[in-house]
Amino acid sequence: MTGLVIQNRGSLYQVKVADDESYSCKLKGSFKVNDIQTTNPVAVGDVVDFELPETMEEAKGQEHLGWITKIHPRTNYIIRRSSNLSKQAHILGANLSRALLLVTVNYPVTSTTFIDRFLATAEAYRVEAALVFNKVDRYCDHEERKLHDLVTLYEGLGYRCFEISAKHGQGMESLKEYISTGITLLSGHSGVGKSTFINALVPGANLRTQNISEAHNMGVHTTTFSEMIPYGTEPDTYLIDTPGIKGFGTIEFEREGVSHYFREIFELGKQCHFHNCTHTHEPKCAVCEGLNRGTIARSRYKSYLSILQDEDEGKYRL
Ligand code: GDP
Ligand code: ZN
Repeated sequence: MTGLVIQNRGSLYQVKVADDESYSCKLKGSFKVNDIQTTNPVAVGDVVDFELPETMEEAKGQEHLGWITKIHPRTNYIIRRSSNLSKQAHILGANLSRALLLVTVNYPVTSTTFIDRFLATAEAYRVEAALVFNKVDRYCDHEERKLHDLVTLYEGLGYRCFEISAKHGQGMESLKEYISTGITLLSGHSGVGKSTFINALVPGANLRTQNISEAHNMGVHTTTFSEMIPYGTEPDTYLIDTPGIKGFGTIEFEREGVSHYFREIFELGKQCHFHNCTHTHEPKCAVCEGLNRGTIARSRYKSYLSILQDEDEGKYRL
């Protein structure tokens, strides 16, 4: 049988075959993703083949029923380190149609460095990314100007931006349309309104997520837990919440590659004198010239440098 993985708790996977038909499964044999050790070789969003026992007798007394035998090829996936020190990694989701970052100009402040790390990670994993600016009902003139500047900057780079108030249901229509098919991964600092947002889209979904994230914060969850929230009217449309995750690890970035994930820096970088220019100290660097002329935003360049620096130190930020 073939189905979609909609939930993962420890070594158990819930595989959905039809709207009212899903099976609890475990992995048969070992699965490895590009030789990276993962806590969950199979992730929510994966399409898998699984076997059911010939007789119900065989499954008696087991917490699972089926055995996953094969993962179908993924269009993409996003993986993150479980923690700074850990060698283990966790796949947040596979076959993602898009990733949304919920951003607040204030209450709490989302830094441009954080936004850019998210966007760079999405580029690295070939996942379409968009920014959702929340709490627009709360901003004063000064904060509104900041919001406007950010939207201008990121739309200028080709990223879709939405301005909403999840609490008051403002500006939600075009966003609902945008996420109306496929799998959407949701991320953002704690406090930006993720639960409020999800609850506005799927009433009743928040309780569950809150329980999960609280368990996370208290360290109760030693096993991993991820779940897709069914959304909307189209089939196979889901939201993936990422509770307890402060950010995206910049895993799999290579020094040479970092500029690839900053669209405008990559584009302009083609005109640098040295083909392997890092845009830091080299003469005749088109990116540094762009920075002086104002065609490259200072905030973007700063974020680029911060990721380069991480790579130099060989450390992974969360
Ligand atoms: P999460 O940590 O990202 O899940 O954030 P929550 O959904 O728990 O929201 C954190 C706080 O921000 C709560 O007090 C919400 O009521 C508030 N909040 C969420 N969305 C909005 C919004 O659009 N406008 C305003 N003014 N407050 C919001
Ligand atoms: Zn350069």
